[in-house]
Order: sequence, then structure tokens, then C-alpha cells
Amino acid sequence: MGLSVSIRREKIAEVLIIGGGIVGSAVALGIAERGARVMMLDEGDCAFRAARGNAGLVWYQGKGQGMRQYQEWTLEATRGWPKFVDKLEELTGIEVSYRKPGGLNFCLSEAEYKSRRDLIDKIRREAEPDDYDCKMLDRTAVQELLPTIKLGDSVFGASYSVHDGHVNPLALLRALHAAFRGFGGYYYPGHSVFDIRQRAKQFVVQTFGGSFAASKLVIAAGNGTGRLAQMVGMHIPVRPEKGEILVTERTRPCLPFPCNRIQQTAEGSFLLGASQEDTGFDIQTNTRVIQCISNRARMVFPVLGKLKIIRSWASLRVITPDKMPIYEASGSSPEVFAIALHSGVTLASLHATKLADWIMDGHAPAGFQNFRCRRFNV
Ligand SMILES: Cc1cc2nc3c(=O)[nH]c(=O)nc-3n(C[C@H](O)[C@H](O)[C@H](O)COP(=O)(O)OP(=O)(O)OC[C@H]3O[C@@H](n4cnc5c(N)ncnc54)[C@H](O)[C@@H]3O)c2cc1C
Repeated sequence: MGLSVSIRREKIAEVLIIGGGIVGSAVALGIAERGARVMMLDEGDCAFRAARGNAGLVWYQGKGQGMRQYQEWTLEATRGWPKFVDKLEELTGIEVSYRKPGGLNFCLSEAEYKSRRDLIDKIRREAEPDDYDCKMLDRTAVQELLPTIKLGDSVFGASYSVHDGHVNPLALLRALHAAFRGFGGYYYPGHSVFDIRQRAKQFVVQTFGGSFAASKLVIAAGNGTGRLAQMVGMHIPVRPEKGEILVTERTRPCLPFPCNRIQQTAEGSFLLGASQEDTGFDIQTNTRVIQCISNRARMVFPVLGKLKIIRSWASLRVITPDKMPIYEASGSSPEVFAIALHSGVTLASLHATKLADWIMDGHAPAGFQNFRCRRFNV
């Protein structure tokens, strides 16, 4: 009997994306729309996924102090959202419940108010031209904006920006995937990557579901990005940060603005949180933290104390050393890109457009080098 050898060949893509979270799928959509053959590799249901546990804020205010580029990038992203959503909904028929009434960040004491005002003033001074669109409101002005829900006595005021909004994050993820597939993209769930090697002008990527090769590789694997990037000689410093969120039972719509730690969904539930905890890869919820989140929410709106908490979860943010995005490129052939950031929901409109252009054509937006990792070496 002769020896039979079976050779399994790898699947060939023009662009391989590792990670099917909000970041990977937005970039994959943009690249597939440009007509490239794109394959997106993702883990299974037990993966750590910030994309499935976030608050859905499309948020501008308070971001970018110390890096004007990030402030401007966020502003451009929030401005791009209405058009982005129109297109996504038209392509997929999936309603993502996006709205942009502006957003509020509550301050529960005079000290909190002053510290918020100082932060906003700093960002405004750094912004160019001097038109940073965020203002401080006193308690009376905030209550006037919210005639159908009474503020708690501790609310001193809030910051407000017209650029802030909210989306249903799970519907967004679903729509990104559907639009990606609609443009001919291939999605491979259950394909956890364990090895990446360069072979001539290609990267060969090994997964538990088979091998893949491409001349462009995008690593957008959330908290897995650091480990995968090491395989191609890149150092991408990311760490997990736990955030816990509570969901209340549904009630009548009474909060017309998304707020930084309290929002009402289109269905009437309140989302409360999220916390910020440095606990490694632990995603257990914690009773003490849940208590803190609900206490603070009741201090803002005492009526929330009457609603039952029906669900809570914890999930992991993807945090860089200065909490601003990392967009890194090898600049060699074959090319590898690594992306790691918090605020993947907010930035999705740019990831599917300008970031896809950068990856495909090398057209980096002005000042884009500020997002590279070498900023950490200074
Ligand atoms: C509690 C909380 C609240 C948040 N609120 C907001 C908000 O209001 N607004 C906002 O803009 N952002 C928010 N975020 C952040 C936002 O969710 C993240 O920026 C975004 O989800 C990051 O997307 P990602 O695709 O980089 O990572 P993830 O969503 O974590 O996805 C990474 C993907 O990579 C895959 N992967 C990892 N390793 C491998 C591997 N070896 N092989 C194959 N696949 C792999 C995983 O399976 C996963 O699907 C929040 C995050 C948290 C945790």
C-alpha cells in the first residue's frame, strides 16, 4: 500500500484581517468596499470582545487632551457618523438606532465641575482653530434640557457637546459584518490565529481552522493585538481594563440625551456604567462595583432607584499607555498594520473610510504619524 500525503494549501487573500470586533470589521468593510479580496479571521464565542460589551457612545467631548490629532480625529469621526449610518443601513437593512442629540457629562460636586471645566479648557486651548465645541452648563441649564426627569440634589452641572451621540453597539457590529459580506468579504469565526510567519512577499497565518496567506496583514485583535504583533516583530503595548455595565428594566422614554455613564436605549432600558478596573483578564462582575455604579446613577436621577436591575456584565477595554489610538505600519513588503484603541465605536466611521484608504493606498491623513508607537519612546 502506497503512502498517501495530503497537502492542505492555504487560502489566499489580498488582505487578511485578524479580529472581527468593531475595529477589525469596520476596517475590513472599508477595504472590501474598495474591491479587494479580504478575509477576516476571528476567534469563537469564548473570546474577549469589547465589541460585544460596550456602551455604544459615539463620543467626542473630553477626548484628546495632550494630542490634538486625536481630538481632531474624533471630531471628524463624529461628523462622519450620520452619513456612515445612512449608508450602512441602506446596504444592510439593519437599523442601528443611531441618534445625535448631543451628550452630557454630569458633575456631582463643585470640585468635579471645576476639574471637568479645567480639562475642557485645556483641550480648547490645544484645539486649532480655537473652536472646541463643548460647554459647561450649570445645574439650572441642565435641568431645563431634561424637563421630564428630575435631577438629584448632588448634580452641580454638566459639560455638553453637540457632537455626541449613541448607537446600538450590537446592531452596529451586526451591520458591519453584513455589509462586509455584502461586498464579497469572507468571515472565518472560530479561526483563532496562533502563528504568523513571513514567506517571501507574503504573511502565512496559521489558525485552528486552517492556513491563510496575504501580502497585507492587519492585526486588529483587541487585547490580543500585542501578542500577535510580536510574531511579526512589532511592539504594540496594550492592556485590558475592565468595565462593568448594568441594565435596568424598561420604562417610558425620559432621557433624551446620551450621558457618559447613564443612557436610555431606544427600547426604554437604562444602561448604567461603565466602571474602570485594572484586573487583568478577569471578566467577573463585582457586587461592590455594581453598587457604586447604581449609587452614582441614583445621585444623578433619584427616580432610577425605582427600577430593577435586570442584567449586568463586564468586558475588557483595549487600553494603550496614553489611552489614545495606535495605528502602526511596518512600511515594508509584505506590509503589516497593527491597530489598537479604545473608542472603536466612535471611530468606526473613519476606520471604514480613511483608515481603509491608508491601508490600501498608503494615503495617511495629515499628522497621522502622531498615532505611531514611537511616541512612547520619548
Ligand atoms: C465596558 C466598555 C464600554 C465601552 N464603551 C464604549 C463607548 O461607549 N464608545 C466607544 O467608542 N467605545 C467604547 N468601548 C470600547 C470599544 O468597545 C472598543 O474600542 C472596541 O470594541 C475595540 O474593538 P476591537 O475590535 O479592537 O476589539 P474587540 O472588540 O475586543 O475585538 C477583538 C476581536 O479580535 C479577536 N481576536 C483576538 N485574538 C485573536 C486571535 N489570536 N485570532 C483571531 N481573532 C482574535 C477576538 O475574538 C475579537 O472578536 C467600550 C469598551 C468597554 C469594555
